[in-house]
Amino acid sequence: MSEFDEALLRAQRYLARFGGKTLAHLIDGKSVAGSGGTFDTLSPVDNTLLAKVARGTSAEIDQAAKAAKRAFASWRKVSGEKRREIMHKIADAIVARADEIALVECMDTGQPIRYMSKAALRGAENFRFYADRAPQAADGQSLPTGTHLNYTTREPIGPVGVITPWNTPFMLSTWKIAPALAAGCTVVHKPAEWSPLTAALLAEIALEAGLPAGVLNVVHGFGEDAGRALTEHPDIKAIGFVGETSTGSAIMAQGSQTLKRVHFELGGKNPVIVFDDADLDRALDAVLFMIYSLNGERCTSSSRALVHASIYKEFAAKAAERVRKIRVGHPLDPRTEIGPLIHPRHVAKVLSYADAARSDGATVAAGGIRSSLGENYVEPTLYTDAHNGMKIAQEEIFGPVLTMIPFADEQEALSIANDVRYGLTAYIWTRDVGRAHRVAQAVEAGMVWVNSENVRHLPTPFGGVKSSGIGRDGGDYSFDFYMETKNIAIALGDHKISRLGV
Ligand code: NAD
Repeated sequence: MSEFDEALLRAQRYLARFGGKTLAHLIDGKSVAGSGGTFDTLSPVDNTLLAKVARGTSAEIDQAAKAAKRAFASWRKVSGEKRREIMHKIADAIVARADEIALVECMDTGQPIRYMSKAALRGAENFRFYADRAPQAADGQSLPTGTHLNYTTREPIGPVGVITPWNTPFMLSTWKIAPALAAGCTVVHKPAEWSPLTAALLAEIALEAGLPAGVLNVVHGFGEDAGRALTEHPDIKAIGFVGETSTGSAIMAQGSQTLKRVHFELGGKNPVIVFDDADLDRALDAVLFMIYSLNGERCTSSSRALVHASIYKEFAAKAAERVRKIRVGHPLDPRTEIGPLIHPRHVAKVLSYADAARSDGATVAAGGIRSSLGENYVEPTLYTDAHNGMKIAQEEIFGPVLTMIPFADEQEALSIANDVRYGLTAYIWTRDVGRAHRVAQAVEAGMVWVNSENVRHLPTPFGGVKSSGIGRDGGDYSFDFYMETKNIAIALGDHKISRLGV
């Protein structure tokens, strides 16, 4: 039996538990069906039903927020060492079930197994990384004066809401939830309605690994009801959100009455700038990887390639040749490089840009059409001869679609790179050290890689500027969001106190 056939069989076995019954919310350690009815989650492979999922309403959000508030009273007092121990147990359990998580994720999102097989392990690493930081989460500074000892300490902010998108849900959820738990917060998670299955697995794993009931709750459902109710709930002190920029704006408005602290990881239209002195073979590999891996459904994707005019024609021709050879296929086939996109609605959006590209005068050098494999399969697409004013250069397409734009010199490269509303990542390819530093400093992005694709290092800050986000994750930065800093001042002696009414 081939590796592919074996994976299909294992996936069927893992998915069997979801068939024929409703995937419930997990509130206060218990399965809750709720009162909102159900919705369907379909597999992008063929748009058939994977599971019926409980549709959360404000009633279940209220129940979950109250459970998180009760659990917070004790979880915040659990020592950092004990939190570390529990979180490592969760990581161990994720590793033990990595195959199940990976296969379920592929079937629920359409992401190819070649990337998802590592996603569960990366989720476990996120837990281990923050587990080891839990004992120091409350550490502060000592700021003495001649008369007072000031010291700061950090306290968990309270129960928090985590709202995640559908593209790589397991990895992204752990990235948000692990630091929150390490900080001593409790969580209500509202996963994306198009790919909710692995969120249920994570909550189940955490509970079985010894996380107390109520510390991590999951309420499934749609953004406009469950999501909205979570952002408006008075017991929820902060919202960690990953998703579209327009949803971020809505959440900010919804949370304003209860003065929610927000952390936003939003959209991107990230430039990769290729100068003519770069190692062009490596640059091409990186350009293609950063837009066609993960189905292009990736916030950090290099969706605009800005290429030096002197090498543009040759670089574009080589890119087109490679793009035509990228293998589209079933997500569980180990040879597949691009799987089916998440949902027919998303496919329609991605394909609509082919018309926009043509009417704006760009060349469709590859793709721009549905693949013959099925409704959600799209051919990897390359638009060339584009300029930055075009729709395909300004809007986040969030699919396997690259827009290639020529530039004349460094100044023009920078002005094109910065001429978008977004500012998440930028990638720069050059052998000129001075230029690398100049461009890296001037480009408007929260994260810049030089002569590299996106290689993450967990202690470094992750986040965007402009319409790509507010706040940073990673390392200690996550604790700035999930914790409040408190200053305590203690008089060292009898300093002078002004006397009134004497
Ligand atoms: P989305 O904004 O449509 O949905 C994200 C989540 O928000 C879902 O769980 C949804 O139910 C919920 N939601 C929707 N409306 C809401 C509301 N009014 N109140 C509360 N919650 C609401 O995004 P998506 O289509 O699921 O994901 C794709 C987007 O995510 C892209 O723009 C992508 O760039 C972005 N993304 C960003 C990062 C990052 O780190 N910057 C990472 C991954 C994805």
